[in-house]
Amino acid sequence: MIHSDRILMGPGPSNPYPEVIEALTRPVLGHLDPEFISLLDETNERLRTVWRTSNLLTFPISATGSAGMEAAFVNFVQTGDVVVVGVNGVFGNRMCDVAARAGATVIPVEAEWGQAIDPQRLLDAHPNPQIIAVVHAETSTGVRNDIAPLGANKGGALLVVDCVTSLGGIPVLIDDWNVDIAYSGTQKCLGIPPGLAPLTVSERAMERVVPTPQSWYLDLNMIKDYVTGDGTRAYHHTAPISMLYGLHAGLGVVLEEGLDQAWERHRLCGDELHRRLPEIGFGLWAQQGHRLPELTTVTLPEGLDDVEGRRTLLERYGIEVGGGLGPVAGKVWRIGCMGHTARMRNVKMLLGALEDLVTATR
Ligand SMILES: *Cc1c(COP(=O)(O)O)cnc(C)c1O
Repeated sequence: MIHSDRILMGPGPSNPYPEVIEALTRPVLGHLDPEFISLLDETNERLRTVWRTSNLLTFPISATGSAGMEAAFVNFVQTGDVVVVGVNGVFGNRMCDVAARAGATVIPVEAEWGQAIDPQRLLDAHPNPQIIAVVHAETSTGVRNDIAPLGANKGGALLVVDCVTSLGGIPVLIDDWNVDIAYSGTQKCLGIPPGLAPLTVSERAMERVVPTPQSWYLDLNMIKDYVTGDGTRAYHHTAPISMLYGLHAGLGVVLEEGLDQAWERHRLCGDELHRRLPEIGFGLWAQQGHRLPELTTVTLPEGLDDVEGRRTLLERYGIEVGGGLGPVAGKVWRIGCMGHTARMRNVKMLLGALEDLVTATR
């Protein structure tokens, strides 16, 4: 039996909007059907609005967020290019791995897990890197890294930003911040199931796409003819039609609510969690001033067992939260509050359940 009533408060996926689930069940059209192409165009226009960009090349990669990350490196890196990467969690480390496999000489700039990265250290790491890359919202730690100072002072470098856990949840201002390449995922703050990776690429970056990227599937030189070509579109791969219906519908929900309103909803839920969790006995773990409303990391009260506690939450209350990763595995929980899940009723339900759990250990 598959449970249909889980409250997904882990690091992802979040609960999808009901409108999205409805869209996933629509009849499938051909991927070159003019009706489908116009839905794709409208989806890309909605993505531009949500990314706060006018970038022409803005579209969803047909794979999960990790493919967005891979596309952001393989298309812009040739052997020996210097790539500076901010590392303060799992996804910064993963960026280093992806960039290195694409042939880059990687310069990691580390900060302690749970702390933000000082942008000046990224800017000072190398005099003339090809790319400076950073994770906006580190899902492994609940920390927000600053982006604006990087865009303002990047010089000749391309600025790559991982927005998988930020897009739709906190302000992401691609054009204002001068970001060149950004990618996201559908299953976190956008309230859509996993499966697509919204990507946006500046005109400046488009001029620097390498001629033959090491990935065939993610080669932007070819994909752009299907995504932005006018009139007839050239086949590259079969677009995942149903997932695109879902993305179109989910972005519709976000824009109807208003992007600022969606940010505000995430903020209010985060504030309530950050205010109440310490009262129940949990410790806020991420650096103050850089805490994400959509992903709260906490240390556990004395006597509450990591695995047992999360199992009880899931089985007795139907609420999923995530465990810690890397150096804090077994020591912290990651509480997501993203997309359709980011509602005060879910926050109150979780807080009530946690109070029960903690009381039972006393
Ligand atoms: C979830 C996540 C990813 C990877 O996305 P997948 O959809 O799991 O492939 C990348 N970066 C960050 C910051 C994430 O939170």
